[in-house]
Order: sequence, then C-alpha cells, then structure tokens
Amino acid sequence: MNNCASISYVSSSYVELTRTCHQSCGYCSFYRDDATLLSIDEIRDKVVELSKRNATEIVFISGEQPQEFPHIQIALHNSGFASYADYLLAVCQVAIEANLLPVLEVGYLDSYTWEKFSTVGCSARVNLVASALANSGQALEKSRGRNPSAGKACIEAMHSAEIPYSVGFVIGIGESEEERLHFISEIGRFCTADPILQDIRLIPFQPTRGCAMHERPPLPFSAVENAIVALREAFPVHHISVPPWLFHRFPELVAAGLNDLGSVPIFSGDPTHDNFEIPCYETLKARLEELNVHLYERGTLSTTAALNRPEVLNALTHTRSLIERRNLSGLNLIDNEHCFVCGPRNNNGLHIPMKKSVEGHTCTFTWTPGPAYQGYAGIVHGGILTTLLDESMAYAVMGAELKILAVTADMRVRFLRPAPVGVPLKFVATLVGQRKNLHFARASVILPEGTVLAEAEGRFAEIILQGVSK
Ligand code: SF4
Repeated sequence: MNNCASISYVSSSYVELTRTCHQSCGYCSFYRDDATLLSIDEIRDKVVELSKRNATEIVFISGEQPQEFPHIQIALHNSGFASYADYLLAVCQVAIEANLLPVLEVGYLDSYTWEKFSTVGCSARVNLVASALANSGQALEKSRGRNPSAGKACIEAMHSAEIPYSVGFVIGIGESEEERLHFISEIGRFCTADPILQDIRLIPFQPTRGCAMHERPPLPFSAVENAIVALREAFPVHHISVPPWLFHRFPELVAAGLNDLGSVPIFSGDPTHDNFEIPCYETLKARLEELNVHLYERGTLSTTAALNRPEVLNALTHTRSLIERRNLSGLNLIDNEHCFVCGPRNNNGLHIPMKKSVEGHTCTFTWTPGPAYQGYAGIVHGGILTTLLDESMAYAVMGAELKILAVTADMRVRFLRPAPVGVPLKFVATLVGQRKNLHFARASVILPEGTVLAEAEGRFAEIILQGVSK
C-alpha cells in the first residue's frame, strides 16, 4: 500500500428503471424480459428522498433498448413519451431539478440518441466486452450486438455528444488472457486522451444464481491483478476501480494499480451487485484507515454545453459543495438507514419513525420499552432514555423540513423518577434557541398520565446546510 496514500470513491445512488433488456448476455443476472418500467412520479419520489439525504450522483440503470418489448412501449405511450430516449431525458431532468447529477447506465445507444443528451447534464457508463464471443460459449451467443465494435461506436457517440463517460471492462466471460490484455491496451489507445473519459471500472465475471453462466468459475485473482496492471498502463491518469466484492483484497489491488473504489452505494443498494454482500462505507473507511490510506470523495464531470443551463450549473455547484464540505470536515455524515434509533435497515435498532414525528421544530413520539432495555428489574436503563432524548432533540433542531444537519455538542439529563418497562413513554423535544451554528433544545420523557420522568437540555452543532435527512 506504500504507493497509495489516498483512494477515491464516488457516492452513487442507484435507481433501477427497468430490468427489461433486448439482449440476453450469459453473464448477466440483471435482465428480466417482463420487468416493468418505473414511472416518472415514482422516480421523482426516490430522487427527492435521495436529495434530502445529501446524495450527489444518481445512477439510472436499465436493460438495453427495453422499448423493443410491447409492454414497455405501452408504458411509454401511456406516460406520454414518444420513445425511450424521451423518457430518459425526463428522468435526467428530474434529477437535475433535485440538484442531483444523473448518470445513465442503459446499455449502448447510437450517436443520434446520445446527441439528445448533450445538454441535459448527464454522464454515462458503458461496459465493454473483450471479444465477440458468439462462437465460444454462452456469454454473448444471444446478444450479438454486444461486441467490441459496438462498444467503441458507443464511446465515439458519447464523445461526439460530449457526454462525460466511464468505461467498464467485463472480463472473464470467455476471452483468453491474451485477448483481454490486448483489448485493454487497444481501448487505452482509443480513448485515454479523451478529456471527457471519467474513470475505468474493471468488472470480473462472478457466477451468480440468476445468470446463464452460473457454472463457469470466476477468474483467478492473479488474472484480475494482471488486468489492473494492464489498465494502469493503458490509462495512466484515470481512476481505476473494481466491484465491491473484491474490496477485501485492497492491498494487492492497490499494489497492482487500483486507486479508486468506484461507486459506493451509500444511500441505496447496487442492483448490478445485489448477489453480493457489499461492505458499507463505514467498514470500508475503517479498513482503509487500518492501512493508513485516506478515503476521499470525488465528483463527476459536466460538459460546457450542459453547464450553459443554469439548473445544471446549480446541481453541479451544489454537489461539489457537498463533496468539498464532506471531505474537508472529515465528518462524512451519511444516513445509510442504519441509525440505531430510526434506521429501517438496522436489525438491532429501535425503528422509531423519527422523520414522521417532527412538526415544525417539535418532535413527539411514543415508545414502549420491552425488558431488553431495562437496567434494574422493571426499570428502563437511563442510557436508553438518554439516547432517545438526544435523538428527539436532534430532530427538533433539524425540523420537519430537515434543512440542516446537526450533531450533538453536549447534553445534560435529569432523571426525576424511574421509567417503568412495558409502559408507553412519550418523548417531546423542542428547539428553544440558536446562536451562530449552535442550536439549543429541550426534551422530556412523560408517562401517559402526565408525570415527567426525565428532562434534558442539549446543544447541537449545525454541520451542513440544505438537503439532508437527519
Ligand atoms: S449485461 Fe446489460 S445488455 Fe447484457 S443482458 Fe444484462 S442488462 Fe442486457
């Protein structure tokens, strides 16, 4: 790890538009020919939620040319779209309006279609295969449009339309090592000097339950290392990443030339890797710190044509400001839905719907503690009461509109009477003042008949303005 003091990542969120795809790549576990298409209203709901949670980049993912299927044509028609491209334009617009940067991962599009996206402010991802494998097994025998020439044509089209793009190399699907390394070098000569090439992703094949090639063994790790070495030679100045299931091999990967984690799906799952256990951001950060490697967040590019639109410029400025603040503060305050009190994804958490408990700057909720939360027999532990008083005050500070993000600076609790186990306890917290970036709140725990059991006062430091979830 000596040659890499820092490693970058992009905080990406995924929104799956449809899994319908007109290809049937043997290595793919994503496509479903009968999958539905997400409506624009459904997309807007997801995007607004992600924006509140300080997301920056949003990857819209779909199968290739789903409009080839009648049920998708009907869905497009019913929503008033003349084509799938028009639908994707509307999708990008929804993201930009929410100050998020859209990324399209929708397969190969032609130059005519990419031109339509030149001013919407999106970037794109294209995945390449090393050789036309139609005769060598299951990988591409049912997807003959997936070949090196089609991939290069797609890159040329994105280049002409000035769509910043990222290139993924799908490897281990039947190509020989010689073909693979030759192809990497060829694509390097083809586009490494392109100023709108953003980054390189290596995607080694992994057999999964849903894919036709599930019996094919994965590539040996040495082949992955060799591919990274070849990519580093072919793309000397670019970010090079691997999928998250390889993160446990950091030291060897970085020694080979890896300098990026790619997209870390902090706010959403990753539908392209949903067969794998992906370490969360906190785990990654902790592992890297053990190795003395600093983790920093990077942003995405936007083209001059797109920046001429004020709303694109706004989205870019907003996301860059968020990234800069997160990197500078060292406090990357991310709601990954694992909060002990309110996180729906924390199996050991309390699952209290805090966001729904706030009105204006008052937070009110009722919680009935079970015996698992007791200290002495039948009495709720003071620590758990403190946790909930703290949480309720934090939400009172942040308010119903969640326009600021605040962390506890200090708090004081007075325990007046024992809180009984098994009785509904009402927590009420209110914002009582503000000075500069410090906010003051008070809270109490009350029995159903009105007896106050504990009171608290706290000071909360505001961290980031706008668009947060806690
Ligand atoms: S890899 Fe992409 S193009 Fe191939 S079947 Fe899967 S979704 Fe379709």
